Parts: sequence; C-alpha cells; structure tokens
Amino acid sequence: MITMKDIIREGHSVLREKAAEVAMPPSKEDQEMMDAMMTFLRNSQDPETAEKYELRAGVGLAAPQINVSKRIIAVRTANENDEPREFALFNPKIVSHSAETAYLESGEGCLSVDRNVEGIVPRYARIKVDAFDRNGDKLKLRFRGYEAIVVQHELDHLDGIMFYDRIEEYAGDYKRPLPSKSIVHRSEEELVL
Ligand SMILES: [Zn+2]
Repeated sequence: MITMKDIIREGHSVLREKAAEVAMPPSKEDQEMMDAMMTFLRNSQDPETAEKYELRAGVGLAAPQINVSKRIIAVRTANENDEPREFALFNPKIVSHSAETAYLESGEGCLSVDRNVEGIVPRYARIKVDAFDRNGDKLKLRFRGYEAIVVQHELDHLDGIMFYDRIEEYAGDYKRPLPSKSIVHRSEEELVL
C-alpha cells in the first residue's frame, strides 16, 4: 500500500528525470504498480482511510512520485454528480491541444511539494491524449477543464517538470513556459476537487 512515506519530495533527482516508456503489453508488475497508484488516490480521497494512514488527498499521481521512473499516471476526479472518474494510463501523450489556456485560480498543489506555492500555472484548456490502458489496449481520450489541468500536471511529472516551472514569474533553471494565448478565467465552482 502506497502511503506518504513512499512519495518522494521536491529536490529528489527522480522528479527531474524523463521517465521511460512502459513496454506494451504491460507486465504484471507494471499493472500492479498502476493499481497501487489508483488505490492510493481512492484511499487519499476517503476521509476515514486518509485520516487513518495520514494521507494527503490527491487527484493525481505519477509513477516518478513514488520513485519509479516510468510513464504511468493515475487520475481520479469526479463528475458533476460527484461520481468518480478514474484514468490509469500507460505512456500517455498529448497529441493535440487547444490554443486556449486555462488555470486554477487557487494555483496548483502537488503531493511531492510540502509547501504552498502561489502563482498561476497556465495549462491548455483542452487536450487530446493517446495512451494505453491496464490491458495494453490503445486509448484516445479528450480532457477539458479541471481534468485537463490535472492530466497535464501528471504528464509533466513524466518529463521531470514541476508545476512551478510553468508559473510565469518563476525564474529557475527548469523554467518551462506554455505558449500562452488567451488565458481563460474559470470559476471556483468548476474546480471543486
Ligand atoms: Zn505533482
């Protein structure tokens, strides 16, 4: 079971590496890794389990965050009826994106960052992603709004990018701007976790 002690924090070199592609079809080991990552998200979003194991609630986790430099991500959001939407992906890749950008008004947080970092993180408002599912079947997915932001945050982890690298005022060695056109203002209601 993944807990906070398995999650590496900023400063760890693996968070700055480009993660390796996962061989398809996935091995049992890679599938189990993926399952464990999704289980962590479910546990972290369940108040009782989260309290018992002292888990910080997360909506996304990338394998490099548990010190595994492989292209695996898990995302767990909810639809407007509060029903979970889960995506566990091998080798996800953005194949196209909107010119329009979006951002979370509250900024972004990260399970690998134990501090509050203020600042707008520009993301694409809509993305199309190719990936492979748990069985190694090819998926073509579209994300928008909050979900698109979460998926981009996790995809960045696979390329060694931290969310603050994209904050406009940030000026570190890893600075990675998104080409920004029009920044779209989104309401807080849309962004409830
Ligand atoms: Zn993160």
